[in-house]
Amino acid sequence: MSTKSMPVLAIVIPCYNEEAVLPVTSRTMSSKLDSLVERGLISPDSRIYFVDDGSTDATWACIAQMVASDRKFRGIKLARNYGHQYALYAGLMNADGDAMVSIDADLQDDINAVDTMIERFAEGNEIVFGVRDDRHTDGKFKRWTAALHYWVAARFGIKTIPNHADFRLMSRKAVAMLGKYRENNIYLRGVVPLLGLKSCKVFYSRGERYAGESKYTLRDMLGLSVRGLTSFSITPLRAIALCGFTVFLISLGLSGWALWAKITNMETGIEGWASTVIPMYLLGGLQLLAIGVVGEYVGKMYMEVKKRPMYQVEEILGGD
Ligand code: UDP
Ligand code: MG
Repeated sequence: MSTKSMPVLAIVIPCYNEEAVLPVTSRTMSSKLDSLVERGLISPDSRIYFVDDGSTDATWACIAQMVASDRKFRGIKLARNYGHQYALYAGLMNADGDAMVSIDADLQDDINAVDTMIERFAEGNEIVFGVRDDRHTDGKFKRWTAALHYWVAARFGIKTIPNHADFRLMSRKAVAMLGKYRENNIYLRGVVPLLGLKSCKVFYSRGERYAGESKYTLRDMLGLSVRGLTSFSITPLRAIALCGFTVFLISLGLSGWALWAKITNMETGIEGWASTVIPMYLLGGLQLLAIGVVGEYVGKMYMEVKKRPMYQVEEILGGD
């Protein structure tokens, strides 16, 4: 009975070179946890997991110190830098709680939304998605590229939740189901909605990173977008086939016409330069693009077939 009314909450925080924000983040998260315990919303056994994603600064030392000072803190050290999605996945797989909330280390996501998430969880939701209701803290470029990504995703028939990053609550059951997805190219924002459990959204507004720098470069963003799109849809492959078929029909018509002109000695008025060179450039470019897209999938299969571990844990601190 008491476990039902007082779930153990596990907060999972991936950290990559976050020494600048960790002291404040840990204090904020810790007092959040305390206030939730006080209000009787979660069990006093609730905890906070920091996943060190192969940081090169003092992040791990900082985490170790926190773990030593307070038993609600736990530390998971990955063997090297695997990237945000993997660090988060590793954290969820190694954390234990009735409900697990994933949140970034930089406090950009509104920690106060966790209260509502827990209420929604208590109402029977297995997954609660944190959705940003505005993007005013993002630059024009990030906003524009994000909108483009969601537009393409929708065209590809991928069910993502627009403006939901990785701030969400998952029940123990949902995390166990997630653990069955052993794909190397993990894209949590795409996989979690696929679980099909009872879920809902909680809206919040996203602030600025208060210290340190964004660890996501333009390249990372692009990579995540391509991964997200190609992991969940083979529409690009179909588009190539469709494009190839259209070009084939046109070529067939053109060939027929060329042959007819030859047979009948028709005066075509073509000197032959533009009509030779344009299809060459056009088809050459198209072929390279098509090979590139197919290559993206072949590369993915290569990575999956090797079945390399998605992450390796080097050390775990705290707990029993
Ligand atoms: N992060 C990580 N591994 C990486 C890059 C980032 O664990 O290789 C973590 C980072 O410490 C932060 C979260 O992922 O907690 C989101 O990163 P960031 O705030 O830099 O991204 P942004 O908010 O700018 O998209
Ligand atoms: Mg951030």
